[in-house]
Amino acid sequence: MIQLKNVHKSYVVKDKQIPALSGIDLSIVKGEIFGVIGHSGAGKSTLVRLINLLERPSGGEIIVDGEAILAYDNLALRNFRRNIGMIFQHFNLLSSKTVAENVAFPIRIAGERDTAKIDARVDEMLDLVGLSRHKHKYPKQLSGGEKQRVGIARALANRPKILLCDEATSALDPQTTRSILQLLREINEKLNLTIVLITHEMDVIRTICDRVAVIDGGKIVESGPVTQVFLHPRHPTTRNFVMEAEDFSEDEFSEGLNQTGEGMVRRLTFMNESMTQPVFTRIARQCEVDFLILNGRFGKIKSTPCGQLTVAFKGDTENALAAIKQLAEAGVVVEESF
Ligand code: ADP
Repeated sequence: MIQLKNVHKSYVVKDKQIPALSGIDLSIVKGEIFGVIGHSGAGKSTLVRLINLLERPSGGEIIVDGEAILAYDNLALRNFRRNIGMIFQHFNLLSSKTVAENVAFPIRIAGERDTAKIDARVDEMLDLVGLSRHKHKYPKQLSGGEKQRVGIARALANRPKILLCDEATSALDPQTTRSILQLLREINEKLNLTIVLITHEMDVIRTICDRVAVIDGGKIVESGPVTQVFLHPRHPTTRNFVMEAEDFSEDEFSEGLNQTGEGMVRRLTFMNESMTQPVFTRIARQCEVDFLILNGRFGKIKSTPCGQLTVAFKGDTENALAAIKQLAEAGVVVEESF
């Protein structure tokens, strides 16, 4: 659906080139929710704005729906942009217009003049985001979550195939964030909409994305299915995101290790069958090993239940190795802890 091939982008400020992205290769599949995560200044906004050509790349190719969009003339570009909706961190609503007028705005801009059709589409969109009863209110009368719902209704008003989300939940509290993410997920399923979402929050990616790219210093340092990237991070930047989300610093980890003394430390990942069977305790009992839990987190990545424990095996090394072997055979992924 969306392909970026060796894309580069530099900004020119006072005759100086400021590199923002270099050598970006990405392929986003139709109907998926694709996340891009990175710290501030990593290049996320630039990346997402290249997809609808709000920014033009300094080099490389961008293919959307099989078409090389960089070759589009103005008219083709205008038509193309109608197929892409966008929502923003600060909603960008028109404060002097009502909710319904905000949603109607892009429909009018796209050339629709039939008021009955516009009204019907506005009603349909407001129903989709659960805001029908706020139709005649102004943005200032709405909560942050409601404003973002208007943003979503407006972004979808011209029935785009792609929705770009630029830090869409960063200004919202955790509970509202959850409800907006749930709405995006429903819309993705109902409309088979491709969603590209950028964020600095791992929980956002974990809640709704199918695949993720981690961006750092204008480069993609790691990408893949969210379960793979977050459960088995390889790059230090990804590992830092995982540690931040687990609220666990390296210092705390070393401290824990010091307290446990000798012991083989391993990170165990449970998913699928190993989440529904008591494999860990059974194997620990059979192999006569004791262990200390240093850190742990269980929950879901999108719809997949999974969990991780970092444990220090105590006592006899041979027993610990036998337990590790059996755990691996039972489908638990056993790794050296980072
Ligand atoms: P992020 O969204 O991850 O915070 P950005 O894409 O906004 O990252 O920025 C990437 C880099 O490009 C930063 O160094 C930023 O300062 C620079 N940059 C972004 N937009 C512009 C601009 N319009 N002019 C000059 N430099 C910019």
